[in-house]
Amino acid sequence: MNITVKKLQIRTKKSVELINITPEINEIIYNLKVKNGFVLIYTKHTTTALIINENEDRLLSDIKETLLRIVPKGAGYKHDQIDNNAHSHIIASLIGNSLCIPIINGSMDLGTWQSILFIELDGPRTRTITVQTYSE
Ligand code: ZN
Repeated sequence: MNITVKKLQIRTKKSVELINITPEINEIIYNLKVKNGFVLIYTKHTTTALIINENEDRLLSDIKETLLRIVPKGAGYKHDQIDNNAHSHIIASLIGNSLCIPIINGSMDLGTWQSILFIELDGPRTRTITVQTYSE
C-alpha cells in the first residue's frame, strides 16, 4: 500500500459558493502517477462541504439557493449568539466533509457529468483540503 498526502489551498470569494476542484485533484493524481487505488478528499473546516455533481452554472445556483432555503440564515439558532453562522455549520453537517473516489488506470472513475464540488458556506476565506491517495 502506497499512501500520499497533499494539501490543496483555495481562496473563496463569496459567503456561499460552489467551486469545481476537479482539475486540481486530477493534477495531483497525475503528478503522483497513481495507477489504481482511491483518493480521499477531506475538507478540514466546520462550515464547508464536498459533493459530486454536475458543474453547470445554473445548477450550482439552484443548489446554493435550495440549501439556503432549507436552512435559512438567522432563523433563531443558538450558535448565532457566538458568531452568526449556525446555518453554515448545519448545512455542512447535513452534506458531509469527505469524498472517496476510485482511481482506475491513472484517473478518477467519474461519470461524464460528475465533478468534485467544494462548497463554501461561510466565506470568503482561505480553505485547506486534504487529498490523500491510497494505491498498490
Ligand atoms: Zn460558528
